[in-house]
Amino acid sequence: MATGKINVSVENIFPLIKKFLYSDHEIFLRELISNATDATLKLKHLTSIGEAKVEYGNPQIEIKIDKDGKKIHILDQGLGMTEDEVKKYINEVAFSGAEEFLDKYKDAGQDAGIIGHFGLGFYSAFMVAEKVEIITKSFKEEPAVHWSCDGSPEFELKTSEKTDRGTEIVLHIADDSTEFLEESRISTLLTKYNKFMPIPIKFGTKTETLPKPEGAKDEDPAPTQEVDNIINNPNPAWTKKPADLEDEDYKGFYRELYPMQFEEPLFNIHLNVDYPFNLTGILYFPKLTNDMNIQKDRIQLYQNQVFVTDNVEGIVPEFLTMLRGVIDSPDIPLNVSRSYLQADGAVKKISSYISKKVADKMNSLFKNNREDFEQKWNDIKVVIEYGMLSEDKFFEKAEKFALYPTVDGSYFTFDELLAKVKDSQTDKDEKTVILYTSDKEAQHSYIEGAKAKGYEVLLLDSPIIPHLMQKLETSKEKITFARVDADHIDNLVKKEDTAISKLSEEEKTSLKEKIDAVVGENSSFTVQLEAMDSSSQPFIITEPEFMRRMK
Ligand code: ADP
Ligand code: MG
Repeated sequence: MATGKINVSVENIFPLIKKFLYSDHEIFLRELISNATDATLKLKHLTSIGEAKVEYGNPQIEIKIDKDGKKIHILDQGLGMTEDEVKKYINEVAFSGAEEFLDKYKDAGQDAGIIGHFGLGFYSAFMVAEKVEIITKSFKEEPAVHWSCDGSPEFELKTSEKTDRGTEIVLHIADDSTEFLEESRISTLLTKYNKFMPIPIKFGTKTETLPKPEGAKDEDPAPTQEVDNIINNPNPAWTKKPADLEDEDYKGFYRELYPMQFEEPLFNIHLNVDYPFNLTGILYFPKLTNDMNIQKDRIQLYQNQVFVTDNVEGIVPEFLTMLRGVIDSPDIPLNVSRSYLQADGAVKKISSYISKKVADKMNSLFKNNREDFEQKWNDIKVVIEYGMLSEDKFFEKAEKFALYPTVDGSYFTFDELLAKVKDSQTDKDEKTVILYTSDKEAQHSYIEGAKAKGYEVLLLDSPIIPHLMQKLETSKEKITFARVDADHIDNLVKKEDTAISKLSEEEKTSLKEKIDAVVGENSSFTVQLEAMDSSSQPFIITEPEFMRRMK
């Protein structure tokens, strides 16, 4: 047996680790399972290139709770460590990581954001354990070793009887952390952080019902068997090629991500880049519902299939944070503050890549199946319109598919609308006038009047369109928006044919007088002569909807 002293500049690092990481104790499990996963994947690599002459097999990681002994065990069948490696990687490397962390963030103890995103690694075990043991056997022909450390800089190192390859970490849980001895607590953590990790993770067993054997009677109970309870899906949809996935697979993955969501997503966007940064993921447009929990069901950020956070602020453009799904990137620096993140070049590129991908996908949906796109428009318009307001680049792309509804329920892109009205709705300054209403009922008579002249009337059915109109008015030449009940509608002219009515002004006045005499000047009816140029209707008399209802 050997003892040694970890080379520490602060006398005892562990109370410090505890103090600084106070808010996020639970990440110890994620860190240790990540190490177990790394060790397994490294072995896989070494066997595949012939460097490790051992059978890789079907390794799994196991988590065990020993409630009476107040211990948690984390076992893997990865590459293990030799004695020299324990000295190097645990005593020196892991330690220097912990020390570096403290150096950097000593003064940032309040900023839980920073701490939560710093992978402290192996030493995070001391946030919950008063003593930690490592029992490990390398795939190399060397004796197994047993390291233990009670939270002081002293450690103990001896040989061990362990015969099978891999590493076991034993945490002797401290009295203030006994919550982690509860099965339900660990189970919740595993689901939160490890649900999609690439190596199967076993946590206890579960009972599986088998099909009844042939000839069994109805009253015979179905046979059961105990099987490993594997808590993760090692091959989640986003790690697969889009070509290998059907629509049903995407929907299934959505349910896996958000088990409490019963509405199906409207559509998905599969992200896949490897240059100039690495990023995979699947984003979903959710169907808007009243009981939507925007706080809870958010986009989740992963790093190599390890859950990091569901606060993607700064990584995903703000207008897309209403989407759902997964983003996985090894290139996002996680151990830094949010303000740093927002200034980071790679992160900026990621953000603009995502908004470009979303715009491209929308555009292809629009082109390939316009009818379907129009049906979904009400659910997606908030996101698109908000995006158009907040990002010029997105605005340019979205102009091709953003839809504007008219009062009769048709949808036009802005260019389509412009083409439709530019010859018939022009004002004296030769600007194309686009009529709109935000209240179909109150402005019913004006709308009917405009329709009778063959004008299109936009329906402002979203609080964002008015802002978009402002943007369009300033960015496009010679267009203007006018409320359907505004005065100068009466002054619109046709580009070619400026005579709206074939009657002279005098004739009009006398005709109006005659009609008014019949209809009653102070009644709720409105007489509009301007419709006289449309051949079928010499004039129209309209009545507001609310008056009609009062009868
Ligand atoms: P990191 O994982 O970022 O390298 P850690 O502090 O988590 O830092 O771990 C330090 C090192 O200890 C690892 O790089 C690895 O070499 C070694 N190690 C930790 N856990 C295991 C394990 N389960 N199997 C093999 N080696 C391990
Ligand atoms: Mg690690």
